Amino acid sequence: MKELFLVVHSLCTGFYTTLKHIFRGPATELYPEYKRPLPARSRARIILTVDPDGRERCVACYLCSAACPVDCISMQAAENPEGRRYAAWFRINFGRCIYCGLCEEACPTAAIQLTPSFEHADRDILKMVAEKEDLQVDHCGKDPNYNFYDHAGVADAIRPKGGHINESPPVNVRTNMP
Ligand code: SF4
Ligand code: SF4
Repeated sequence: MKELFLVVHSLCTGFYTTLKHIFRGPATELYPEYKRPLPARSRARIILTVDPDGRERCVACYLCSAACPVDCISMQAAENPEGRRYAAWFRINFGRCIYCGLCEEACPTAAIQLTPSFEHADRDILKMVAEKEDLQVDHCGKDPNYNFYDHAGVADAIRPKGGHINESPPVNVRTNMP
């Protein structure tokens, strides 16, 4: 008798679950017809952003490259006539990238940022290698107000020593001598 009750109970539970879903809309989202909006801080395609004044943020410090656990970032540092460092070339091999975000965490200038854009798979592995011109964008990304050169104390032709936010003018230490 107990077994019969268990069988009937299982059948009723199954039919109830089926009937419950007959009148609901489909749960499946058809991709690519529907693209679910992802949170702004989702980690996918990487970009190189610019300062609020439109200048390249990347100072080719190699910190992102050092932090990358799969060694997929490489670059060559250079310096422009204003005394400002930049990457002469900058390359990311997306075929190896695991989208961990450590490069973004390491970057002192907020230049390198991960975005929610995930549609860049390709069957040709060589097409997954992105050069600087593929990565560089003309906006500030997630940090619209941050300008490394306003705070860093690194002198260039625009902001000399003592000309940065909260920076005091340089002191001639010889004047402090007894
Ligand atoms: S997201 Fe991770 S794996 Fe990809 S480039 Fe940055 S540090 Fe390297
Ligand atoms: S992207 Fe950032 S961490 Fe990487 S080299 Fe440029 S400034 Fe340095």
